Amino acid sequence: MAIGTIVKALSGFYYVQDQSAGDIYECRGRGILKKNSVSPLVGDRVNYTPTSHQQGMIEEIMPRTNEFFRPKVANVDQTILVFTHKEPAWNQRLLDRFIVMAESVGVDSLIVINKIDLLNDSEILEVYSNKELYESIGYSVILVSTKSQVGKEELALALKDKISMFSGQSGVGKSSLLNFIESGLELKVGDVSSKLGRGKHTTRHVELYALSSGGFIADTPGFSQIELTNIEDVSELKEYFVELFSRGQGCKYRGCTHITEDGCQVISDVEKGEIQKFRYEHYVELFHEIKEQLQNK
Ligand code: GDP
Ligand code: ZN
Repeated sequence: MAIGTIVKALSGFYYVQDQSAGDIYECRGRGILKKNSVSPLVGDRVNYTPTSHQQGMIEEIMPRTNEFFRPKVANVDQTILVFTHKEPAWNQRLLDRFIVMAESVGVDSLIVINKIDLLNDSEILEVYSNKELYESIGYSVILVSTKSQVGKEELALALKDKISMFSGQSGVGKSSLLNFIESGLELKVGDVSSKLGRGKHTTRHVELYALSSGGFIADTPGFSQIELTNIEDVSELKEYFVELFSRGQGCKYRGCTHITEDGCQVISDVEKGEIQKFRYEHYVELFHEIKEQLQNK
């Protein structure tokens, strides 16, 4: 038996990329999989038996670390949150939303700030201060320019041996980044962008592209399609805005949500500029949004 990863599913076939040789086997699933009502997903690590002519049979699906249903994919290790300081303008509101979405489905986030070649000295300083902020909360931040070839090794290392998907608004340079890391993905990446334009309800088939240094990129538009539906209680937000809640331990109200309470320490720290105002505002916004969403459930 051999081990591999399903990189594509099409018309009842699963395309399994062999872990060691890297070649792809067109496989069927054994009846036992259906009997146990597990259907293989792209991203699954499997045991399979190669038969003839690059064909095979999937025997067993290894336990998943996570699974998504729209798009259908399993075992995504991380999402690469691609942002820019300029062209398009820094959108921290979207970044904070993406972080919450990723956390709520158990996927790590890596922040990439692209197009740093466009920035002057004072803009670079602003980027560094954002980098520091997010690193202090616990996320890695990599500064990149696909134009002036900055950050390539660091990014390649972060992608190695993982299944990653890219998220970010259009124009930040997702396609350019993929091509920057792995020339040859270029054509396929064009497909990613055109798929992005398709309606929300189109069935999508995710495909994984192997990186030559190990690991895969999923050709999905990332979090643009995933909603905040995994959050079951608004108190979960605590874990995603750690800097508010670690400071708020000094708050005189036990279990304070730091939203409206008079004399709340977090609110006064925000006023004093000791907590970044945007982060606080995004917390408040998500708090109300999720609360409303839960009430309507
Ligand atoms: P996507 O929509 O996120 O896939 O973004 P694209 O990869 O299509 O890039 C959008 C535009 O940004 C294109 O015109 C790219 O040439 C440009 N771009 C990408 N990376 C950089 C960069 O590092 N510096 C600059 N100045 N432009 C970039
Ligand atoms: Zn408080």
